[in-house]
Amino acid sequence: MTFIELAGIKIDDVTMDEAIARLNGFIMERSPHLIVTPNPEIIVSAQVDEELRNILNNSHLRLPDGISMVVVSRILMRPLRERVSGVDFMQKAMALASAKGYRVYLLGGAKGVANEAARKLRLQYPELQIVGARDGYFSKVEETSVVSGIRGVYPDILFAGLGMIRQEKWLANNLNELNVPACVGVGGSMDVISGTKQRAPAWIQALYIEWLYRLIMEPWRIKRQAALPKFLWLTLIKHGIMRTEWLKKLF
Ligand code: UDP
Repeated sequence: MTFIELAGIKIDDVTMDEAIARLNGFIMERSPHLIVTPNPEIIVSAQVDEELRNILNNSHLRLPDGISMVVVSRILMRPLRERVSGVDFMQKAMALASAKGYRVYLLGGAKGVANEAARKLRLQYPELQIVGARDGYFSKVEETSVVSGIRGVYPDILFAGLGMIRQEKWLANNLNELNVPACVGVGGSMDVISGTKQRAPAWIQALYIEWLYRLIMEPWRIKRQAALPKFLWLTLIKHGIMRTEWLKKLF
């Protein structure tokens, strides 16, 4: 499988169908795998966080979660074929799990959110085996019981929405202990699936302005969205366009 590098972070060039096939492969292999969903915010944070950078670059599958990453990759003439967002991947993975009888665990979100997501998913996929659901607000002391609670119900897929960076580190640090074939960091996807938060309508996504929609719905995100211009600077100017062959040929 091919990947590209954006500001030193590897991103896999996968389509949704290929990503789901890889997920299926991980489950059949049985050994623990980590799936991450890098977006511009994570890539910017990883510049100054070596632990995060190593986790992302050593993950078994890195989905291109943000449309800006696809756009940047095209400008750099190393095009990613499509955006594979965490929430869309999670939905498709449920269809796979339901069809194959895979066991699913939902971890993350405020109290009740994972249970509500589980309820909605069971309505959508009556055959789906959700073997556990719990919120993502637990202390360091509770961590061992959270891990053994997950391990003890033998999920095939663990979706963890514990907040960006925390979830990647938590999953990577507990990967072997959890012993789940596919561990996926999904950010706020649990909120979307439970209906706690609305996702931008399809036409807004098609115009590549989902970030603007989220900013209007959650104005406090402005601080987090400052990562987007930083990401563009890092990928297009600092590490990117100045080094592309077509620009070198031009001058
Ligand atoms: N979250 C959690 N535990 C925490 C911090 C956050 O479960 O200690 C959850 C939060 O309730 C929300 C999600 O993590 O559901 C937000 O993750 P992130 O900020 O990565 O998502 P985004 O909004 O960027 O999709």
